[in-house]
Formats: sequence, C-alpha cells, structure tokens
Amino acid sequence: MTPVRVLAVASEVYPIVKTGGLADVAGALPIALKAHGVEMRTLMPGYPEVMRKVAGAAELRTWPDYFGGPGRLLAGSHEGLDLFVLDVPHLYARPGNPYVTSEGVDWPDNGVRFAALSRVAADIGHGLVPTFVPDVVHAHDWQAGLAPAYLHYDNRPRPATVMTIHNMAYQGKFAPELIGAIGLPWHSFSVNELEYFGGISFLKAGLQFADRITTVSPTYAREIQSDEGGMGFGGLLRARSDVLSGILNGIDTSVWNPQTDPHIAYRFGAEDLTFRAANKAVLQQQFNLDSSDEAPLLGVISRLSWQKGLDLLLEAIPTIIEQGMQLALLGSGDRDLQEGYQAAARANPGRIGVVIGYDEILAHLVQAGSDALIVPSRFEPCGLTQLCALRYGSVPIVSRVGGLEDTIVDIGETGHDATGFKFGPVTADALAWTLRKVNTAFHNKAAWRRLQRNGLATDVSWRGRAGEYAALYRGLMAARA
Ligand code: ADP
Repeated sequence: MTPVRVLAVASEVYPIVKTGGLADVAGALPIALKAHGVEMRTLMPGYPEVMRKVAGAAELRTWPDYFGGPGRLLAGSHEGLDLFVLDVPHLYARPGNPYVTSEGVDWPDNGVRFAALSRVAADIGHGLVPTFVPDVVHAHDWQAGLAPAYLHYDNRPRPATVMTIHNMAYQGKFAPELIGAIGLPWHSFSVNELEYFGGISFLKAGLQFADRITTVSPTYAREIQSDEGGMGFGGLLRARSDVLSGILNGIDTSVWNPQTDPHIAYRFGAEDLTFRAANKAVLQQQFNLDSSDEAPLLGVISRLSWQKGLDLLLEAIPTIIEQGMQLALLGSGDRDLQEGYQAAARANPGRIGVVIGYDEILAHLVQAGSDALIVPSRFEPCGLTQLCALRYGSVPIVSRVGGLEDTIVDIGETGHDATGFKFGPVTADALAWTLRKVNTAFHNKAAWRRLQRNGLATDVSWRGRAGEYAALYRGLMAARA
C-alpha cells in the first residue's frame, strides 16, 4: 500500500468540540484510516476547549500579525488524533459554541475566523510544516471551503483537494467586501467562482475548486443535484457530477458499544437483549414515564430544527397516545419546538417525556432503553442516530431521504433482512400511519426480535467506509502521478 498523507481541515472534532455529526466524522475517520495506510492529521481552530485538551502542543510557527493579531500553529495530540491547532486568540479564544455568541447569533467575524483556518491549511499544503507535507487536503464543510480556493488562486504546485459536504444548508455566506481582507483576488468575485447572490460563499469556493467533492451518503449525493436539494447549488453540482460521490458515515463502535458502554444502566450483547428491558425501566424513570414493559417506547435524540422534521412528530402525538405508545425526546434547538414538546409532556403525563438539552450520556441511555428511535428528517445528509440505534437494538423509524434511505431496510422491502421502518412523503400523516404499523409489529415479538437482530448484525462501523476514502485519496494521487 502506498502511504498517503492527508491534511483534514475541520471546525469541530469529537471528542474535543462537537455541535453535530461533522465532529463525529472528523474524530473517527483519521483513526479508521490508519488501517488503510493513510496518515491523517487534522487542522482545527484553537478554541479554549482545544487549548485545554490538546496535550504536548509544540509550537511550529508564530506570526506577529495573523489576520489582525498574533497567532501560532501548534502540533499536538488527543486520544489518538494527530492535530494541528491554529491558536489565534483574537479569533478563537471565545467560550461556548464555536460559531455563535451566547445569544445564538453568528459571530460577526466568522468570515475572517474561518478564512484564517483555510489559509493556514493551504500553507501546510504548500509545505509550511516540512515534516508533514500532505498529498491531499481534505476540507470539511463551509468553514474549510476556502482551503481548495486558496490553493487554486496561489497558482503553485499543490496537493490534491477534496471537499466534503456534511450539510448543504450551511453555506458560509459573507459580504463581498471580505474578499480583500482575507487575501483573495478581486476577480474571484464572479459567478463561476465565489460570487453567490451578491455576496460570496465559502461552501461554493470549495465546490468550485476541489478536485473531488464528496457527501455523506449516495442518496444525498443525488438529492443535492436537484434544484430543491441543492439549496442554490444544484446547477453547480450537476455540472460537477463527474467528481461528486457519496460515502456513508460510520459510527465509532468503541464509543457506541452496548457491551462496554459506561453510560447505560445495564450492558448487553447482541445475543441477549433481555437487559434492554432494564434500561427501558431506567429510561422511563428518567423521563417521568409510566413504568410499563408493554408500551412501545419511542426515542428521539436530535437538534430541534425544521430540517429534523420534529414539528411533524409533534403533530403525530395524538397517534402515539391513541396507540398506547410512549415518547422520550432528548433535544434542543428552536424555541417553538422546545415549548411545543414541553407542552405535550405537560398534557400527557407519564406518556410523553421531554428533556431539553444536549446530553451525551443520556443519549446512550435513550439508545439502550427505547424500543424504536424516530428520525423524521425533511432532509438528512447521512444521520448518525439511526446507526447507533441499529447497534443498540432500538428499531429505527426514518423518513425516506438521504442517508436514512441508504442505511435502513424497510420492513416492507423484504421480510428477512429488514432493520426498520421508512416513511414517505415526509408528512405528519405518513408518520402517524407508520407509527400504527410499528405498534402492530412491536406486539409480534418474533417479528420485532428479527428487526432488532438484523439491525445488530448490520456493520455500522467506519471500517469499510474509511476504505472508500482511502481509495479516493489514492485515486487522486494516481491521477497526478
Ligand atoms: P446533525 O449533525 O444534523 O445534528 P447527525 O445525526 O448527523 O445530525 O448527528 C447528530 C449527533 O449529535 C449524534 O451523535 C447525536 O447522538 C448527537 N446529538 C444530537 N442531539 C443531541 C442531544 N440533544 N444530546 C446528545 N446528543 C445529541
């Protein structure tokens, strides 16, 4: 195997900083790639959490003035991840969420903050760190979208570039005046380059100039080439369809392992699911639900946003009640949805349980104790919670979109290797209809066990998927040799 060196560029990396699935991927992929002969190092901003957690950070480079203040590039590691950290306090030394203020508004200088990250990525691509000159620069989402653009405009020999879209809805749009401040040429403000509805888009920059574009499932790769799914970039992606592909995400099966999970009440293996009942009892307690083994317990772990379709589930609550089911929802996000679910819990004590917040530990218990996990997304690039559910014997109920379509086999598609329930169109009625079907299936113990066993037998790890990334990198290197 030819060794390959890849610089990944990501604005969040699990287990250091996480707001969503991007962090999970950025944290798991480098480790899974080792078995495929790929040496991946990840460049991320030096937020306070990063500066606290990254051990043995060695200073590689200092700048007296990096985008308006002193900056340093560090190399360090954390839990098996090799990291480059861009420590620029005036840009990143801010507590809390990496993108928004404590009031939930975007930091006004996000354009400069993430241009700075991409600029140093391009420089590492050009050899800034002589001990690690990458063959490929792999940019994740809009925060890293300028990395392929800087490499393009620098007009020097450069590594190959890959741009991965984790969610088309986040496009990194800024005013055109930013172009000068971040050192891009003014001619980049044109429709075939960075211009986007009168401003510029960092995501567009990546999509225009990366050698290859990937997204996190084959179905989402098709969906984003339509005008609706492309959210403004359908035309661009159709034009670049020859370099666009979908590679499914995996999950970290050492973190998500019901046999060793320290966060669940009772551990269990695939062969013996009896302890699930004990986890269900604890979950019911924690969500103030009636203790009942017979009531199917539906779980949700999600951001509460329009994308996730949780307004549809709210509409379907009368069906949950009428069918004698229970709901345990863990999530945070849109105020209307939070209030809607809290009101539903007040109106249906013992039947609807809601915890508003982000709680990694409780998420594990929801997976271990729920009978089924609902993901009713309007669009879903890949989705991770349904993969965890498969591994924990919670049967996924998902909408027929994106990665949900690709990772779950519907009970109606085949009698033998079905793993869950898929519904479409993505409406409250279709969801309610499916919930009735779920209830019937739940009370057929043999059929339900089969769904659980098929789920538990599904490979949701990174092993094979990392191999697809390794093949992509090697393909790019071969094309340039
Ligand atoms: P997205 O990145 O769009 O939010 P994904 O399904 O790709 O959706 O990834 C979400 C990740 O965040 C999963 O690992 C999930 O378990 C976790 N998560 C989402 N909401 C919560 C929450 N309220 N508490 C704990 N974990 C959560």
